[in-house]
Amino acid sequence: MTESVTCNHCGAPLDVPGSTKYLTCNHCGSRLLLKRTSSASYTEVLDNIARETDSLKKEVRHLRVQNELERLDREWGMERERFRVRTRDGRSYIPGEQSGAAHAAKILALIVFLGFFLAIGSTIARGASMSGAPSGFAMGPILIMVSAVLVVVSSIISSSSKRAGYRSARQRYRTRRGGIVSRLDR
Ligand SMILES: [Zn+2]
Repeated sequence: MTESVTCNHCGAPLDVPGSTKYLTCNHCGSRLLLKRTSSASYTEVLDNIARETDSLKKEVRHLRVQNELERLDREWGMERERFRVRTRDGRSYIPGEQSGAAHAAKILALIVFLGFFLAIGSTIARGASMSGAPSGFAMGPILIMVSAVLVVVSSIISSSSKRAGYRSARQRYRTRRGGIVSRLDR
């Protein structure tokens, strides 16, 4: 028993045996897929099917990449918040996102504060020794000056290491993101 169908590329009539699934049109050479419904039989050009499958695959891949990017961005948003520092006046910032100038200004302010502190401390200590106070009296201001130096130095070190920590986390995030985005072009 043969079926009559038409080539979906050139429209030529084709007679094919009932069990056929794949055929090649003798008129135009198109490779065809024979499809059957309860009421009709028709052909589809196989190359078109391959093209459609390709574009479907591409779409799926885009969606997957998009989902991954969204998840990564969300995770980074949360990780970034963990670096946030709140100041006493209620503002907040992320070390490493401030400009270099803002960072430098902060360190400069700390150093000016320290210099001021040392000047006052040494004046008191010198005054104490010149006025013939017992030698132990000068120890107070000196101890306070030493602890001020320690506080300022450790605050500069901790602020720089927070900056560095944030920057390397951000670099990791950017690298991962770049890797995911580059899969879009494939
Ligand atoms: Zn044909």
